[in-house]
Amino acid sequence: MIYTKQTNKALNLCYEAHAGQFDKSGVPYVFHPFHVAEQMDDEKSVIVALLHDVVEDTDKTLDDLRKAGFDDAVIEAVCLLTHDKAVPYMDYVRAIKKNPLATKVKLADLRHNMDSSRMVADPTKEDEARLEKYKQAEQILLSEAAETGNKSEDKPESKLEDAVFGLAIADALGVPYEFKMRDTFQCTKMTGYGTHHQPAGTWSDDTSMTIATAKSIKDNDGAINIEDIRNNFLDWVNNDAFTADGEVFDIGNATRDALYSGEPRTDDRSNGNGSLMRILPLAFTDCTDDEIRAVSAITHGHETSMRACVIYVHVARRLLNGETIAEIIPTLQSKKPFDRLYKLYQLSIDEIKSSGYVVDTLEAALWCLAKNQNFKDTVLAAVNLGGDTDTVGAVAGGLAGIIYGLQEDFAKDCMETLRNKELIRECI
Ligand SMILES: [Mg+2]
Repeated sequence: MIYTKQTNKALNLCYEAHAGQFDKSGVPYVFHPFHVAEQMDDEKSVIVALLHDVVEDTDKTLDDLRKAGFDDAVIEAVCLLTHDKAVPYMDYVRAIKKNPLATKVKLADLRHNMDSSRMVADPTKEDEARLEKYKQAEQILLSEAAETGNKSEDKPESKLEDAVFGLAIADALGVPYEFKMRDTFQCTKMTGYGTHHQPAGTWSDDTSMTIATAKSIKDNDGAINIEDIRNNFLDWVNNDAFTADGEVFDIGNATRDALYSGEPRTDDRSNGNGSLMRILPLAFTDCTDDEIRAVSAITHGHETSMRACVIYVHVARRLLNGETIAEIIPTLQSKKPFDRLYKLYQLSIDEIKSSGYVVDTLEAALWCLAKNQNFKDTVLAAVNLGGDTDTVGAVAGGLAGIIYGLQEDFAKDCMETLRNKELIRECI
């Protein structure tokens, strides 16, 4: 909650207007707008969240709000959020999506209404239909948000830069928290030390191996040269090349074993995210699926790891072609263990693991992209899932860079802190 003169006025008005009303689970209704307001991060959206149901569900009118001294932006957003029963629901949602303030509040409103812990124990058909309606509404609003993000006129070269720097920023955000459990920390900006005792802005193996791959592709005029990529990885592991600070401080077991032995790990237990985290540069080439699999298999040769890389590169290419994440996710129909990807919009945070298992990492990263609408929220959500924070961050951050670019103040601040940017630029 943000407390200002205006939000306090909205709080009081909301409290009075909803007095005596209860939601379906018997809780005073006012807790719903309070909860939605708690999700907001600026004064205007807090006010609109508090007032979003006041005109629809109580005897207050827009005129009452105007007389109470709320400004035109607030009145317009509340007006859009008030559903006139004569208007088909999805038309009402589409009208909302033209207004960013109303969209922001409606998304938080829908999420609270879809929170399964608020549902009655035995949902009726009507309850299920309502839930389905809310999911559709969320997709409409999110697809608009993603479309806006996709309207970048950047050249392909700078998209590669956005992708790799997006990945590096999220990697560096996650480094201090690697292995920490969800809800035991809160990442809000670039910080230093923590798990690996590195200064703020230090990126790890995810970025090192990504730029080692990008450098090889650049040196080979866009072609995939497996031996050359492997040699760059060896240069990293043996000579500390491609590092933020001249030191390798984080390396996965399967990656180390495979690079030292020259043979990839292919057993079931070697399905960490070690190839997924470095595969993104391939999306900027016209390489085949077999080549994607071969690049994965430099270290990770199990079918599951290789498939994760192919799915991820395909998603990145589709984003580069202007498709939105909301369009892409429902089409990701895949066999086990990737059989949950298509329904990520319907999964709650408790159903998302963020471990180093490649399937968990891919799900977690795409889930963060589905549930957020800007670079900052997406990468922070990924890191704050806990567990393999830097790699879930990196896998999400690369795609977030493609979708949103790095023009937000948050991304610019992170870029200031990011270490050894010159090396990253040289490699891409
Ligand atoms: Mg790492």
